Amino acid sequence: MKEKGSISIHTENIFPIIKKFLYSDHEIFLRELVANAVDATQKLKRLSSLGEVKTEVNPNPRIEVSFDKKKKTITIADQGIGMTAEEIKKYINQIAFSGATEFVEKYKDKGDEQQIIGMFGLGFYSAFMVADHVEINSLSYQEGAKAAKWKCDGSTSYEITESKKKEIGTEVILHIAKDSEEFLDEFRLKGILDKYCKFLPVEIKFGTKEEQVEDGKDKEGKPKYKSVTVDNIINETHPLWTKSPSELKDEDYLNFYKSLYPFSEDPLFWIHLNVDYPFNLTGVLYFPKIKKDFEIQKNKIQLYSKQVFITDEVKDIVPEFLQLLHGVIDSPDIPLNVSRSYLQSDSNVKKINNHITKKVADKLAELFKKDRKAFEEKWDDIGIFVKYGMLSEDKFYEKAKNFGLLKSIDNTYYTLDEYKEKVSATQTDKDKNLVYLYTNDEKKQHSFIQSATKKGYDVLEFDSLIDSHFINFLEQKLDKTQLKRVDADTIDKLIQKEEEIASVLSKEEEEKVKGIFEKAINNPNMAVAVESQAVDEMPVLITMSEFMRRMKDMAETGGGGMPMMGGMPDSYNVAINGNHPIIANILKKKKEADQVKLAKQAFDLAMLSQNMLTGKDLTDFIERSVELMVGKAKK
Ligand code: ADP
Repeated sequence: MKEKGSISIHTENIFPIIKKFLYSDHEIFLRELVANAVDATQKLKRLSSLGEVKTEVNPNPRIEVSFDKKKKTITIADQGIGMTAEEIKKYINQIAFSGATEFVEKYKDKGDEQQIIGMFGLGFYSAFMVADHVEINSLSYQEGAKAAKWKCDGSTSYEITESKKKEIGTEVILHIAKDSEEFLDEFRLKGILDKYCKFLPVEIKFGTKEEQVEDGKDKEGKPKYKSVTVDNIINETHPLWTKSPSELKDEDYLNFYKSLYPFSEDPLFWIHLNVDYPFNLTGVLYFPKIKKDFEIQKNKIQLYSKQVFITDEVKDIVPEFLQLLHGVIDSPDIPLNVSRSYLQSDSNVKKINNHITKKVADKLAELFKKDRKAFEEKWDDIGIFVKYGMLSEDKFYEKAKNFGLLKSIDNTYYTLDEYKEKVSATQTDKDKNLVYLYTNDEKKQHSFIQSATKKGYDVLEFDSLIDSHFINFLEQKLDKTQLKRVDADTIDKLIQKEEEIASVLSKEEEEKVKGIFEKAINNPNMAVAVESQAVDEMPVLITMSEFMRRMKDMAETGGGGMPMMGGMPDSYNVAINGNHPIIANILKKKKEADQVKLAKQAFDLAMLSQNMLTGKDLTDFIERSVELMVGKAKK
């Protein structure tokens, strides 16, 4: 028997088009063909367990991938259900080809979708990305079936003949095209199998390897070993996420993590996902330690569909903040052969998104409830993640507001409610606003923190990059609450109370002091104001308003539409404590030059305390200090 036919497709020659469109990811052909072989194997297993297979079948079927450098072939052989000649005509000529035609029609004009097409592949048809000529040699499991051989040279015509194949199953033989000979290489093929097929549910053999096995005992009774050649199985057929959590120990999860990310530190904890309604999803998500410096490592989650690796670009399937997690998600319900814009609006994807968000929030809530101390210990590593989640997903915020923590500089952790409770008696200002004080640099802002704690106020620590956004966010969410950095103003101004401290200076003296300092500072970006503060506060304090600083921060991180702020000189407020004895000293001086000198000295001290005094200013300050210490006597 020999039959020739013509494949009925509309686009005359779609092969060049496919080549062009799939250019970015030719290696996908192997995943597609091995996945087909897995499907065929599992179909036979199922039929066999239903008693529908009369012929004898291999109880431990394998798939073998092999190549022949001389003949320039790559062969994928399975022991699955096989196909009769009729079935080849139906499934390959019609189904596979029509699928491909449809695909090309759809994407022909969308050059920018190239990546995604490359990623998701095309089934059997992708063989023609690397082969100029493909053969199928197959024997169906059906009783009395005749083996059949199909050949296609990449045009729309094919040829079917009888074959001598004896074992049930299918061989797909690719005659590799000249421009794809790179694939006729052991390491290349092994690399592709490792990437896409590492967790497939049917054993995949690729070559052989040497193994040491026990071979009797030597004279002393010690076991002897000999080297034997065994099949090299490249995959793990029951990966961790397919097992039930009840049969797994912590160690198993940690080992699996290590196998996925060999050089990473152990994760903090993990969530085993297992959903079967209203969609199918399994997986394990790990919480990595996220360093303070916010080194975001996205694309660490691997997406599988029925244990076939699809991609590690999970942008559209997992909410952004969860992309900081590591691990595996496996779902046959995520549509993979469609474009990204479609993925985003797909209702399954939305549901999956929501489900994962909820699971993660629940897990965190559970950890918080079960062992608060342990949770607090992890906070420095998961805080960024939780804040990111609160900022970006309202549903997550609703749950996280009960376990998201604020850290005080004395290393105490509070929930939002607890903190409100703690500071509302002391830190409510005269307008009934609650003021939360914070620092982003304990060392630099030390003197400001001291002023605050002296008054009995608490200071929070907000020192990661995400905090500048989180602070804005908290102000929106919390009722009548403002967040102010400790160095944004004098402490009495940060939290203004009814009672005011009386000034020892007259209005006239205040004006005079202001003039002296303006002369001493001589900088238009430093706005001088004389205030009446407690005697024991600093004589001079340099601050930048909360508003100005946030604008500047936003311009710097590019997050908020004030580009011109970035280039503007910093402008500061200089608060002179009119009640400080130094001021009285200045006013006592007879000569204006002496007044200005003393004022400059007080100002420089303030600059120095904030690490702002450098260069010539610093040299001048030191010289002046020496001079003032030696006193008039020398002059
Ligand atoms: P899909 O796998 O998406 O259905 P393919 O183009 O990969 O599309 O394959 C078309 C059909 O050809 C499959 O549905 C299957 O019925 C049949 N087929 C492909 N490869 C094999 C195989 N190795 N063994 C048995 N049948 C196969």
